Amino acid sequence: MVGRLILPQWLVTNAKQAPKEQWGVRVVGDKIDDVAPNQELVNSYPADSVWKAGGMVLAPGFVNTHSHLYGVLAHGIPLSKAPSGFLPFLEDFWWQMIENRLDHGMIDAATDLRCANMLQSGVTSFYDCTEAPYALPGCLASQAQVIKKWGLRAILSFEATERVSPENGELGLKENLEFVRACKQEGGLISGLICHHTTFTCSEKFIRQAFEMAAAEDVSLHAHVSEGTYEPGYALSNFGKRTIEYYDQLGVTGKRFLASQCVQLSQNEIALIAEKGVRVSHMPLSNCEVGGGIAPVPDLLAANVQIGLGSDGYIDDFFEVMRGAFLIHKAARQDPRVMPAHEVWYMATEGGARVLGFEDVGRIEKGWQADLQLIDANLPTPIEAHNIYEQLLLYRNASHVKGVMVAGEVKMENGVVMNADWERLHNQTREASERLWSLAR
Ligand SMILES: [Zn+2]
Repeated sequence: MVGRLILPQWLVTNAKQAPKEQWGVRVVGDKIDDVAPNQELVNSYPADSVWKAGGMVLAPGFVNTHSHLYGVLAHGIPLSKAPSGFLPFLEDFWWQMIENRLDHGMIDAATDLRCANMLQSGVTSFYDCTEAPYALPGCLASQAQVIKKWGLRAILSFEATERVSPENGELGLKENLEFVRACKQEGGLISGLICHHTTFTCSEKFIRQAFEMAAAEDVSLHAHVSEGTYEPGYALSNFGKRTIEYYDQLGVTGKRFLASQCVQLSQNEIALIAEKGVRVSHMPLSNCEVGGGIAPVPDLLAANVQIGLGSDGYIDDFFEVMRGAFLIHKAARQDPRVMPAHEVWYMATEGGARVLGFEDVGRIEKGWQADLQLIDANLPTPIEAHNIYEQLLLYRNASHVKGVMVAGEVKMENGVVMNADWERLHNQTREASERLWSLAR
């Protein structure tokens, strides 16, 4: 079978192995078929097409473990005053002005632009969470049609909540369930999971129902967990326990549970997350935005918790998200040794894939998915095996990503995202945001 050779200057197979100079890969179909020195690949597969990538680093594509693609519509929205805390952020701003106003057209326009932006920044897989109580039903199916055009690997969900009404909560769960089933039927790169919002917008009965639904469909259950001090405070005063302890009492903590944020955790909650195998998504930049605090990521890592990185629909250049994770914990712990670059890189690639339940994504190895990116290695100081993660993480950004492949399909070449009509994408996003802003005024 004819394949495609990619021949870079450096190959980063996974963050736990030393990078290899003048090594490349052979891609056949949607998988990596061989990993070897460039010259050996050329000699072994003379009939293959060749993607010459001199001066580039070939690395696994990034995995964005948490986004709200419609978040782009809120960029620059006029606010009469800054929210005074996490709950006011939700009540006065995010719910009232954004999520309650979203319709299919707005979500789809934002999704279209964000897919192109993700490819620009080397992201090949992502998880997205839509909370838009008045865009039910059908917003996930509509969004999936847009994503399919871009060929990204995605998990989509609707953030079901009873904050509007119990009936609206039911509609949200149904949206997830129908989408999960439709994706299973269809196959392909897009799948679903069951998602509820938080313990302060969902009743015990509702959370149990969501968990049982996820178990019956054998998919993950996702929730935002303790993004600020509000949720653990709410849980303590209403249930006598902190958020994760309450979930544990409900029987939700376990490998099926994907807990995003996890900013405000007690030592006991960290131990529970580790013991029960809960997966965690870390969003360093949006944690700053909402004034939520700094997640105890070094402690979670020390407890062997599986952690991925997410943009949260805030700042989407994944190099910036990595820099946030790399820097914020050093400052918080007053210790430059915490969160070394290779650890952050792992969270952005294979660790994130683990968090999302992808078993053969995030590493460059024979038999794994060909989700790849080429990053320009032309830095003012040498890239060497000992410094490659620091050099890429600290001194590169989305503009340095020059090639992207998802499941063996080329999505970006020479720095150009395939089929991205930027004028159209920007115009339709601007129209959608103007409509949203006018409704919010
Ligand atoms: Zn979120």
